[in-house]
Amino acid sequence: MTKVITRFAPSPTGFLHIGGARTALFNYLFAKHHQGKFLLRIEDTDRARSTDETVEAILMGMKWLNLNWDEDAVSQFSRAPRHREVALELLEKGHAYYCYATPEELSEMREAAKKEGRQQKYDGRWRDRDPAEAPEGISPAIRLKAPQTGSSTINDLVQGSVTIEHEQLDDMVLLRSDGTPTYMLAVVVDDHDMDITHVIRGDDHLNNAFRQLQIYKAMGWHIPEFAHIPLIHGPDGAKLSKRHGALGIEAYQEMGYLPEAINNYLMRLGWSHGDDEIIEIENAIKWFSLENVGKSPSRFDFDKLRHVNQHYMAKKDPKDLIPLLKPYFNSEISPQISSRLERGLESLLQRSETLEELAKKSQFYLYESNIPLEEKAAEKFLDGGKEKITDILPFLEAIKKWSEENIKEAIQAYCKKEDIKLGKVGPFIRIALTGSIESPSIFQIMDILGQEETLNRLRTQTL
Ligand code: GLU
Repeated sequence: MTKVITRFAPSPTGFLHIGGARTALFNYLFAKHHQGKFLLRIEDTDRARSTDETVEAILMGMKWLNLNWDEDAVSQFSRAPRHREVALELLEKGHAYYCYATPEELSEMREAAKKEGRQQKYDGRWRDRDPAEAPEGISPAIRLKAPQTGSSTINDLVQGSVTIEHEQLDDMVLLRSDGTPTYMLAVVVDDHDMDITHVIRGDDHLNNAFRQLQIYKAMGWHIPEFAHIPLIHGPDGAKLSKRHGALGIEAYQEMGYLPEAINNYLMRLGWSHGDDEIIEIENAIKWFSLENVGKSPSRFDFDKLRHVNQHYMAKKDPKDLIPLLKPYFNSEISPQISSRLERGLESLLQRSETLEELAKKSQFYLYESNIPLEEKAAEKFLDGGKEKITDILPFLEAIKKWSEENIKEAIQAYCKKEDIKLGKVGPFIRIALTGSIESPSIFQIMDILGQEETLNRLRTQTL
């Protein structure tokens, strides 16, 4: 088998969105599975919309997801001379022709077809006409002489065998009258020149594949395998909307998802390996095959993504999580706070599904003495908090060796003396230490904060 070469070919008209990232991932996995190459081509021919910024955003998104491409990224726009060359070659071979139809003629053609309820396509008026009849002063477009009878079949590696009748094809433009190549031509020439063996992309391109096929045939080029993967839909089965996840990759990064989790979640949107939900990238490379890509659209499910994200966060060493939490904190992290976090993150991970949530829940470790109280906590504290904390302080001040066990003992001794349950004082301690009515074990928190900081926080609330 020849070496597998795939490509991801985004149009940089915006950021790398979630559907594009999945297409890139499938191309990456397929290439790596076959020890092949994964190439990147930026389809930047729409000059008005392809800016340096959008190109950069796509490259950044790919790098963040660790979908590293082989070789230098190819700019489609820079290859325009080569695309023109192929259009002229097709002309020479008799597979294309000059079309002098004016924009007015073309729009009349469209209007007439619309009125009669016919498919809107070019009527081939210059297909067999003698170029000697060319009107003065009109620069022609170059159109492909598409076959008019018979049919074409593509054995798509995901969609199966798909056939269309050639009557449906029209003589598409290859080179516009201003000399710029069309997308159809550029894609085929680039895929051919880059030796792409497998074109894996969204199934919204399946119709294009039949048009592109005619260019391959006319040039006598080897036709790559096609795999058109179903699009991602929203949880309601409708087209993916922004609210349901149709966002740029950078939005997921900001919301606090890990790239490993995004990759894991995306690969499962359409591809399966038994019932496995957690599949690390190394295993995905080992197991990936297009046969296990489903034909029906998959549904985006934020809850599942959050669940997968929690798994990957929990797998990380807390030390490695701290730098990832930094953007969400509202203050710097000193070495002392870093060591608090290293010990405190583990229990908070059980309650957090994104980095943003984890940062929010661990923010209390960053304060020194003065903890802002959440509204609910402040309200609850009014119900006797000051008094209880004042009473318990001497018990905690008396602890000689600060440890979780000794803290627990001291608090129990206080409860016994007052003949109250832990539930009568614990919540106030929690509020004074964390500013919230929810947190992991207060004994653990006190141990992590250390005696001095614990006492400072408690004293502050008695003032
Ligand atoms: N540039 C096209 C897009 O972003 C993809 C073309 C292709 O994969 O053939 O939709």
